[in-house]
Amino acid sequence: MICNDFRLRLSRAAGYSDDQFAAFLLNNDPLAGKLTAAQRREIITGAADSGAAVALMLSERFAAKPPTEVACLLGVKIVAGNLRGARLLLSNYDPSAATITLNKAMIKKLEQCQLSQRLLPGIFDPAEVAVAHELFHHVESSDQSVFSRHFKVTLWRLGPLRYRSTVAAAGEIAATVCAKTLCRLCFNPVLLEALTLYTEGAPRLAEWFDQLNRAA
Ligand SMILES: [Zn+2]
Repeated sequence: MICNDFRLRLSRAAGYSDDQFAAFLLNNDPLAGKLTAAQRREIITGAADSGAAVALMLSERFAAKPPTEVACLLGVKIVAGNLRGARLLLSNYDPSAATITLNKAMIKKLEQCQLSQRLLPGIFDPAEVAVAHELFHHVESSDQSVFSRHFKVTLWRLGPLRYRSTVAAAGEIAATVCAKTLCRLCFNPVLLEALTLYTEGAPRLAEWFDQLNRAA
């Protein structure tokens, strides 16, 4: 995808509602096909509310300090590392070690691209956005009352037995809203994934935008 086409698609997507990004995340969940329309609505609303509530709690408790400082005050370690997998990930959170891993090489490229080309609106630090996202997962990992922990769908029943599962996208939607709120972004941070695909020259960038545009 050439630069001008990318700039156009990105700036159009920057105007989409958070619900559209939530629907996009939900469509990519392995359980997407098992959800009713009512469950989808419940997840999108419940997860967004929970992400906003966690952001408010963290910002009140830590006097609106930057996410990296909040992580330090919460005893969450931040380390650099390579996160190679099926998806290009800027960061992840390991609850067993209370550790956030940042893909610093990828984040650096993103930073440089944003500084030189100003593709997304406003001023932001991609590392802080990534840490803010993972802070939600930290809170979620230790609090059963968070929406993404208690919302479950029934996958199968056999007589009195039933198997229920959480929906991973609920945590992702909430973490996205948490990061957007904590970092006061004027765009949905899911767009950092598009910027990453662009800086890494990933061939599936056009398909990524097509999926986002179709999400509802
Ligand atoms: Zn996440």
